[in-house]
Amino acid sequence: MDDCLFCRIVAGRIPARKVFEDDEILAFHDINPARPVHLLVIPKRHITSLATVSDADTAVLGRMLAVANRLATEQGSPDGFRVIINTGRIGHQEVQHLHAHIVGGPEPVGPMLKRI
Ligand code: 5GP
Ligand code: ZN
Repeated sequence: MDDCLFCRIVAGRIPARKVFEDDEILAFHDINPARPVHLLVIPKRHITSLATVSDADTAVLGRMLAVANRLATEQGSPDGFRVIINTGRIGHQEVQHLHAHIVGGPEPVGPMLKRI
């Protein structure tokens, strides 16, 4: 997946401010944070989007959420956070490698869902 931005980050060919890494998961700061805490949690293995996952991916998906919870607390959003997984054209997914945005901070995030 030479042409995938997040695969390049996984491979260390593009720098990122990593906050967590293990065999199957990588988490790093979003380069353009929308809130004081804005992390991206990704599977190291290339999965294009939530629209392409199968039952074989449930373990890594579950781990992404468990890591998200721990990192939000550690990184400055201990009183809750928002998880966003933009998916496909309708979901405005810009990077075609599955990623969960973890957004939060000391103050509540916007009432996003009320505007949809
Ligand atoms: P999407 O719209 O696909 O859900 O979000 C992609 C996210 O990736 C955006 O929030 C954008 O700021 C972030 N992003 C794009 N390029 C880079 C990069 O090179 N490094 C990091 N850390 N984040 C990036
Ligand atoms: Zn990729």
